[in-house]
Order: sequence, then structure tokens, then C-alpha cells
Amino acid sequence: MENLLKYIRSSFNYTHWIDTKNDVVNPKLQLLDYGIYNVFVTPVDIDGYQNKLEHYSNILQKALNEWSNALNGKIKFKVVFSLQGADIKLYWIRSKREYAARQNWDENTIHKMPVVNMGIVDIEGKPYSDNELYHLCLHEFGHILTLGHSPNPEDCMCGGGTWNPYLTDNDIFVLRLIYFLGSGVSYTDKEEYIKAEVQKFLKNKSNDKIIQNSKAHIKQTKAEIAVDLLSNLETIEEIAKYRLTLQHISLDEAAKKHFSKPQYILPAEVSEQLT
Ligand SMILES: [Zn+2]
Repeated sequence: MENLLKYIRSSFNYTHWIDTKNDVVNPKLQLLDYGIYNVFVTPVDIDGYQNKLEHYSNILQKALNEWSNALNGKIKFKVVFSLQGADIKLYWIRSKREYAARQNWDENTIHKMPVVNMGIVDIEGKPYSDNELYHLCLHEFGHILTLGHSPNPEDCMCGGGTWNPYLTDNDIFVLRLIYFLGSGVSYTDKEEYIKAEVQKFLKNKSNDKIIQNSKAHIKQTKAEIAVDLLSNLETIEEIAKYRLTLQHISLDEAAKKHFSKPQYILPAEVSEQLT
């Protein structure tokens, strides 16, 4: 409970990309409006990596789509290769000692816009793996969406936590919650409501665990039936009957609901998708 509240409070205070110069801590949510944002990616200016622009841009676009999905497409990001019409600017960098990637305001452009410095090579000069880069893209654009840092090392928005290449339920929950609350709201305005929502979320999450267990149980039952039937199978007809049996193992309502939820990208699937 306390970790999630910390994550939410940190998002309320995460305004530095809006006003770095004045260093103003504005305790009100400053969210992106719903719509489409063009992300201008600059050419790769690191020796040996110039020809990787398309590859990196694909990874970035996939990470941006994951955030989009988390908001049911209400905000979309589009990777573009021209500054014209851009809303956000991204440079590919060699990571600094202080940070692997970072987002900030670009003070040098005529059109001030958020800028992301995305590490593709670590401070030792070793390139990040696709999954690591995917994580960095998710994390930095979480900040663009105004998420702060989570104290839970599993969450994508943990600064320097586990470099998981996906959003956790917490990340998605906090994002949806703050976008539901809308810009201009302060934490204290909505404290009671937020606490109630967090409690509901945590309760559902523990129900989810029960469903996960029953999912594992169904799988096991299927496996047992498979072993039983296979040992006795002799004819094609029987194989057909066996297949039918598998199809008719029914799920209870809670499990059905769970399986119909939008599925977020899991680590193994990410690697697959990125190849
Ligand atoms: Zn961060």
C-alpha cells in the first residue's frame, strides 16, 4: 500500500520536464492531453551504430505502443524522422555515469519541447540488449507521461530497479489512475479517493493470484487428461474425441474475465517480437 502511494505521490510531483528552468515544484498533475504525439528521432551519431537507426526506432515504437495500450489508445506516439511537426525530440546517446537515459527540456531549439536522451551504449561502451533498450524507452516515456519513480524494483518506473522489458500492473494502474484524475489536481485534493482506489486495486490483485492459481490448475488437469488419454489412444477417432474433451474443459466466470483482459507484453514475448 505505502509503496504504491509513494509511486503515486512521486507522479504528482513529477513536473520537472515541464519547468526545469524555474525549478518549480508544482504539486498538481501536469498530464499530456489526449492525442497523437510525434517523436522525432535524430540519426544515430555513435561510431559503429549509425546503421541501427531503424532497429532502435522499431524498439522505441513498440515501447510507445505499450504505453498507448495502457491508456486504451487515448494517447499515441508516432516515431518520425523529421523535426517538422515534432512534439518530442529523441537523441541516441552513450550513457553517462549519472544516468543511462534521461528526459528533459531542450532549451536550444526554437520550439521548446521535451527531449529524451536515450542510451544505446553503456558507460563501458557495451551496447544495451534489445530488452534493455526496450526498458529504457518505456521508462523515459513513462516520465513523458508524467509518471514519477516507483520504490518497487519490479516496476518499470523504478529508477535503477530491475530492467524488466514490460510494464507491471502497478505501472498501468498508476498511469490510469492519474489520467483518470486529470490535470490540475493535487494529491491532497484526492487523497481519500486515491487510497480507496489503491485498496481496491490491491484486493483485485490478490484475487488475480487466485485466478492465476486456478489457471495453473486447469493446465495441470489438461496435462493429466492428456497423459491418461494418450496412454489408451489407439484410433484416430479416439484422438478426435480426446481433442474435443480438451475443448470442453470449461472456465469459471472469473477466469474467463481474466483471460479476456488485454494482455501486456511478457519478457519472452518481447524478445520474440523484437527479432
Ligand atoms: Zn527515471
